[in-house]
Amino acid sequence: MKLAEKLARIRETLDRLIPDVPIPLEHEDPFTLLVAVVLSAQTTDKKVNEVTPALFARADTPEKMARLSVREVHDLIRTVGLAPAKSKALVGLSKQLVVEHGGRVPRTLEQLMELPGVGRKTASVVLSQAFGVPAFAVDTHIHRLAQRWGLSSGKSVEQTERDLRRHFPPESWGRLHLQIIYFGRRYCPARGHDPAECPICSFAGRRGRARSVKASR
Ligand code: SF4
Repeated sequence: MKLAEKLARIRETLDRLIPDVPIPLEHEDPFTLLVAVVLSAQTTDKKVNEVTPALFARADTPEKMARLSVREVHDLIRTVGLAPAKSKALVGLSKQLVVEHGGRVPRTLEQLMELPGVGRKTASVVLSQAFGVPAFAVDTHIHRLAQRWGLSSGKSVEQTERDLRRHFPPESWGRLHLQIIYFGRRYCPARGHDPAECPICSFAGRRGRARSVKASR
């Protein structure tokens, strides 16, 4: 199958199977989305959505979050994985937003990535979902699926992001990010299985039995 045909078929399949792509992390604005995405590293969205109501009731702006101690934030998010590092990052990034950005979330990848606890994937999610700026957030799950579907031979997440950005038009990146994550959750079973039965691997995938690529985010 030619690459262009495969890309079109992947998009058609995702649009058919995953027509709706709600943003899974509850938030009110760019700041609360940023906080939720930082919290979501190596944790399920469900877990994050359980702690953010109480956290945002205490601090839903950078100014309010910057006034909390790391200990106070930790107490509010302690059921989430990596809570010590995340509470430190949330207070640190809030202070930085107040001092360097007038209490606003910046709109560039570079400025976002200068904030504590914010890597390229988190910055891309915020750009895409809070501001509608084209960005293809690639995590390890999307990285593995892109390889399995023959969309990237990249050895790194960075190379996969470059390949996906080259394959798909910018206006589709945000939607595809969410569609691939939802696809992984719904269709990629936890155990090894036969790719011939997969709605996408059956025409796009490489041979062999698949291992889990279940996405948490
Ligand atoms: S269901 Fe299996 S075969 Fe299909 S994309 Fe997921 S891992 Fe690959």
